[in-house]
Amino acid sequence: MINNVVDLHIHTTKSDGTKTPTEVLTEAEQLGLKRISVTDHESVDAYPEIAENRNSFSGVIVPGIELKTHCRGREIELLGYGFSIEEMKKNLPQFYQPKEQINKNYLSKIIETLKRNGIIIKDGIEEEYDGLSTQPAWFIRSILNSDKENIEYNMKLLNQDVIEHPKTDGFYRGWLSNPASKFFVDFQAYPSFEDTIKLIKNSGGKVFIPHIFQYGDRSKGILQDLLATGKIDGIECYYPTFSKEQTKYLLDICSTQGLFVSGGSDYHGTNKKNELGRGLDSNLYVPEEKVINWTNMLSKNVSVKNKDIEEESICLDM
Ligand SMILES: [Zn+2]
Ligand SMILES: [Zn+2]
Repeated sequence: MINNVVDLHIHTTKSDGTKTPTEVLTEAEQLGLKRISVTDHESVDAYPEIAENRNSFSGVIVPGIELKTHCRGREIELLGYGFSIEEMKKNLPQFYQPKEQINKNYLSKIIETLKRNGIIIKDGIEEEYDGLSTQPAWFIRSILNSDKENIEYNMKLLNQDVIEHPKTDGFYRGWLSNPASKFFVDFQAYPSFEDTIKLIKNSGGKVFIPHIFQYGDRSKGILQDLLATGKIDGIECYYPTFSKEQTKYLLDICSTQGLFVSGGSDYHGTNKKNELGRGLDSNLYVPEEKVINWTNMLSKNVSVKNKDIEEESICLDM
């Protein structure tokens, strides 16, 4: 069996992985990986630590990030590679708010929608919500449940709505996230894919489409919409859950449209079965020759300012 040496999709403790950036570098070195990218969700916070411990990995590091966005009514992800880390850090908050703020905004939208449709909610309830300890929908549900004075009236309104669309299970699925309900809350936590692409490009990076077959029967439509922008630079063709046919399908698109080919494990430490550089049961194999040119190109001239050493830059590629 040929040893895989490429893994361009890795998460650390700076998002939802369980290994620190330093641990990832050490593990990657032990596994004999030659080209990696740390692609934390909506974060480049791993990179200062990577710069500090750059010597523990002897291969090429491409700066990366994974960004949530949406397309065809589904939450999807895009990968950005080879951007300037400083620029990305600066531009990120324009498009991506902290989770706490997203939850607070969503709660306001829920309250507004419920009130507009006659539900009685005490004024100023928003101020009691910290944005983190619970989901906005659960918070508002418990508020409604504890309002003994109005619960009967409110339930009557909500149940009336259920009769009009009988398929329902629960407050969130049945009403808030159900487009058939008049209590449907139209809220997008993440920017449009056009904006996410803009963010990556504005930060000097290239846009890649990760794990496209995770989006069920909408996958090919989403792929179509993304490619139609003309701003996609590459596709993650090698991914642990992809079949050989799926990989070939994507490789063919890359070769006809002149796009870069990528691949990675989507390693999350113990939060996911996928293993670093290995995938599932060692099924990941990303041919190095397919990524060598663009990873070399995107790892060049990329510097990370080291917090302790002012004005001195550390080149990520060694
Ligand atoms: Zn994740
Ligand atoms: Zn991922």
